[in-house]
Amino acid sequence: MVGSIIDGKQHAINLRKRIKLATDNLISKYGITPGLAVVLDGNDPASEIYVRNKGIQTKEAGMESLEFRLPEDTSEEKLLKNVKELNKNQSVNGILVQFPVPQHMSQQKIIETILPSKDVDGLHPVNSGYLASGLRGMVPCTPQGSALLIKETLGDLSGLHAVVLGRSNLVGKPIVQLLLRENCTVTICHSRTKNLKEVCLSADILVAAVGKANMITKDMVKPGAIIIDVGVNRTSEGLVGDVSTEVKEVASQITPVPGGVGPMTVVMLMSNTVKSALEN
Ligand code: NAP
Repeated sequence: MVGSIIDGKQHAINLRKRIKLATDNLISKYGITPGLAVVLDGNDPASEIYVRNKGIQTKEAGMESLEFRLPEDTSEEKLLKNVKELNKNQSVNGILVQFPVPQHMSQQKIIETILPSKDVDGLHPVNSGYLASGLRGMVPCTPQGSALLIKETLGDLSGLHAVVLGRSNLVGKPIVQLLLRENCTVTICHSRTKNLKEVCLSADILVAAVGKANMITKDMVKPGAIIIDVGVNRTSEGLVGDVSTEVKEVASQITPVPGGVGPMTVVMLMSNTVKSALEN
């Protein structure tokens, strides 16, 4: 068996069209142009690229894009003041502070300063609480995009066994919640999990969000399983995921790296901004 590729880029293009329609509708019916503010502190090259891409996609979706570039030695107090002003700004529906921030800042403090309704990254504890309680709220972008790819590929997920590798607040835990909502039976694995291979072999859906290049090999995968590779690892051979390419030989469907989960992440940010504009 050779598994087919889940084309994240194509899914993202389709979704972008739907988001553009929703934006146009908001503008023409209610005179509301959704606005996304991105704050970048410092000059990390990878963050620069992410922020530029977000700005381009925000404008392409017909939304207002605001960028705040702060020098690396900006005090935490000043950055938090900037965030508080954005909380009050009526034309801003979504606020994203690009992480990582310089070492002298508390990432958690920043997350908790953003108004939950404008927290398009979905990391505020209020939003994590909503997600864990099965309520509406902002859902982190990468997990949301990953869950959507699974849903659009398989349809009904009821009763399937999903194994999620990774338990971060950013990726692993929210994916677990989203798969529970879809009535999967979910197992969470992390660095202390014993018998990882056996657990992985029992998965109908295997989500790898660890950050270790090629750690999932084909002997760890149940024939016919669907594989979502969230990992992004820079190696001498370029960007690779957590899942080795040989897994294609046993999986039914698999997301590539790059071109799988990555393109979905930015689109979900647009989607969260429209959601915030609609609901607030
Ligand atoms: P993270 O915070 O470092 O979390 C990694 C998780 O993997 C932790 O829960 C850790 O367990 C677990 N882990 C470590 N070694 C393991 C092992 N041998 N077996 C099983 N689990 C193990 O990373 P993250 O922020 O969640 O990101 C995970 C990956 O996704 C990274 O490669 C990141 O670059 C990528 N990512 C991609 C996107 C995208 O848009 N495509 C977005 C975000 C992140 P412990 O909790 O026990 O330490």
